Amino acid sequence: MKKIMMKTPLVEIDGDEMTRILWKKIKDELLIPYIDLKTEYYDLALTNREKTNDQVTKDSAEAIKRLGVGVKCATITPNAQRVKEYNLTSMWKSPNGTIRSMLDGTVFRAPLLVKGLKVLLPTWTQPITIARHAYGDVYSGVEGYVNCPGKAEFILPNGERKTIFDFTGNGIVQTMHNTDKSIYSFARSCMNYALDVKKDLWFSTKDTISKIYDHRFKDIFQEVFDNEYKDKFAEAGIEYFYTLIDDAVARIVRSNGGMIWACKNYDGDVMSDMIATAFGSLAMMTSVLVSPEGNFEYEAAHGTVTRHYYNYLKGENTSTNPMATIFAWTGALQKRGQIDNLPELVAFAKKVETASLLTIEEGTMTKDLANIFDGKANMVNSDEFLSAIKEKLDA
Ligand code: NAP
Ligand code: MG
Repeated sequence: MKKIMMKTPLVEIDGDEMTRILWKKIKDELLIPYIDLKTEYYDLALTNREKTNDQVTKDSAEAIKRLGVGVKCATITPNAQRVKEYNLTSMWKSPNGTIRSMLDGTVFRAPLLVKGLKVLLPTWTQPITIARHAYGDVYSGVEGYVNCPGKAEFILPNGERKTIFDFTGNGIVQTMHNTDKSIYSFARSCMNYALDVKKDLWFSTKDTISKIYDHRFKDIFQEVFDNEYKDKFAEAGIEYFYTLIDDAVARIVRSNGGMIWACKNYDGDVMSDMIATAFGSLAMMTSVLVSPEGNFEYEAAHGTVTRHYYNYLKGENTSTNPMATIFAWTGALQKRGQIDNLPELVAFAKKVETASLLTIEEGTMTKDLANIFDGKANMVNSDEFLSAIKEKLDA
């Protein structure tokens, strides 16, 4: 069989532990036999981040800015225990954090739906994508405990003073910030992504209560939409819809899904865990980072599955679900194919996705899915699962 040719390489960012094992298997079984796979390879294994003083992480982010599309394997974010385990000279920062801040992106997470896998809310027949703003708010808030009566105030750079509260007893205070620059880029990322996947974009805040802070988010989104995206949305047949966060929650629960729900940082943190749980499993969640310049980084939403890796090292049978990592590859290949005008590459990536979903739908799956499958599940290990997908590809 003739292999499908690529033009521009993908930025391939390798990682750690169980997902590193799956990474190679996915390439060997599902990609390399069919594609003349071109990648620019960055090894973000913790040992190599240590060896390069984490330079390799920054280089990989620069490569995405240069080439436009990257695919990333899960990586260890070291803590004190990892520093010991890997004999590190430093507790290197989260690679995802480094890459995100260099690309200035928004993270989009969407569940994979498969017939037969139970969704807790059966009315949700289409996936709901959460677009979480990843800057500011309570995550970089400043707080204080008030232990004597008196006035708590804040002072703006122009000298304006505002009373937070005139305390007569003990209490607590919290302040937080965001920047216009970050909110504009959040809005543009969400709107670019909505156009890319042709889905309606919803945005919600509490602007009736937070008349300056949340209102600024609402106004910037509306301004960006009116000035830059209105016509493009109309052409694509999609809508931008703003509503209050409590109204959004009520509507989403009653809906059939299918929308992108843009959330401020805290709202997105809370809502994405609810969505992931309601749709079944983190291993069935796709994740892509989109920058305002239109660069894309595809990844799995889960970690390196350390517990399975230690079992694997002991030679035990492991049943790690490779779906999210497969979809990181297929997402990146489709995006590369679209940009480079390679319809065969796009079609092949879609074929891999269909074969993977069908494998589960027909009852063959890893352990994590067996207990949420409505029917008799044929529980297999990761190798057997990948072989079953390959069989479908070759059929
Ligand atoms: P994790 O790797 O997501 O795994 C937590 C548990 O979730 C696993 O033990 C497993 O449950 C289940 N699970 C996750 N992915 C699965 C899959 N593909 N198939 C089957 N089960 C799956 O989270 P963690 O154990 O907290 O973190 C491990 C390492 O990953 C840490 O070093 C952390 O820093 C890193 N991490 C990286 C990223 C990233 O790069 N994107 C994200 C999060 C965490 P059972 O054990 O019950 O089977
Ligand atoms: Mg959270």
